[in-house]
Amino acid sequence: MVNLRKLLEKINTQEPLQGDLRFDEPMAFHTTFKVGGPADVWVRPEGPGFPRYVALLLKIAHEAGVPVFILGGGANLVVSDRGIRGIVLDTTGWSGWQIDETSVLFYAGTEVDQAAEVCAKHERESLAFLAGMPGSIGGAIWMNARCYNRSISDVLMETWILNEAFQEELVPFQPEAFDYKVSPFQKRNVLILGGRFKTSYKDKHALLAEMQTYRKDREAKGHYTLPSAGSAFKNNHAFGKPTGKIIDELGLRGFSIGGAKVADWHGNIIVNTGTATARDIYLLTEEIKKQVQDRVGYRLECEILFVGEWDQELKIT
Ligand SMILES: Cc1cc2nc3c(=O)[nH]c(=O)nc-3n(C[C@H](O)[C@H](O)[C@H](O)COP(=O)(O)OP(=O)(O)OC[C@H]3O[C@@H](n4cnc5c(N)ncnc54)[C@H](O)[C@@H]3O)c2cc1C
Repeated sequence: MVNLRKLLEKINTQEPLQGDLRFDEPMAFHTTFKVGGPADVWVRPEGPGFPRYVALLLKIAHEAGVPVFILGGGANLVVSDRGIRGIVLDTTGWSGWQIDETSVLFYAGTEVDQAAEVCAKHERESLAFLAGMPGSIGGAIWMNARCYNRSISDVLMETWILNEAFQEELVPFQPEAFDYKVSPFQKRNVLILGGRFKTSYKDKHALLAEMQTYRKDREAKGHYTLPSAGSAFKNNHAFGKPTGKIIDELGLRGFSIGGAKVADWHGNIIVNTGTATARDIYLLTEEIKKQVQDRVGYRLECEILFVGEWDQELKIT
């Protein structure tokens, strides 16, 4: 059993941490669902030394066999009630951007909504469609976030990563590596440091108005009403209709297990009514999957990710 305090001291003597570090930090503080037990260690480096610090941390943790979970905005996660063993590396302190004539580079921890604002301020069309969506640039690339008929991969030029050898690498955009809610980084053990996006000129006022429309639409759809992680299940063209509609038609809106509930206003949003545990959310997704499979024969796939240490009987791998 590795002594995590000693491990972190070792890292700190080589590369002093600028940022925050806590032991037994409740993950409910760092997820939009507001559920999740403690991380053994939660560390949020910031400042220009971020790439150096995280490269060292990942290397030393790897050598010691300590798992590291990379956290963005926590907007697509259900962290187990038991929490996360090892180290949670929170990337939200790594925020910033560099803009040139034709592109903009955002650091991974930048909130996507802020990135959209920055583009608008510089009269660049690029990430406006992500206005109002919670989460970070790194998380959005990893998930290949999609809304209003566009995916982040539509504007991605290259991804700046720390690769499996803990070296910085620029990965050119390859369209065939991305798909609906799929990015190549889901198959690799890498940390996304940033993404470069193509931009084109667009009037600032038109962009700000467009972004306001998206935010208002999300508000009207109840996205911010109660804690959630957005859509619980993926859509699938083969179903012929949105997953939310399928769940609605089965009369499952408002259906609940413990404090987890299918939103009264949208079949594909599961909300935390205030007392939900991660287990409640998991059991609710399983029950919805079962009902959809039994009654209409579709096999739903979760979009939300279940992470951390789960009770074995739940069989979450
Ligand atoms: C109200 C609401 C509305 C939403 N609407 C949408 C929507 O319209 N479209 C959509 O696609 N999603 C939506 N979501 C889900 C969520 O916003 C996106 O999936 C978002 O991209 C997640 O980003 P994040 O930074 O929060 O990632 P997290 O939830 O923190 O992490 C998600 C995954 O990415 C990995 N990851 C995060 N950062 C990095 C990094 N720097 N390097 C390597 N791996 C990393 C994590 O390890 C994890 O596996 C919504 C969520 C909410 C709460």
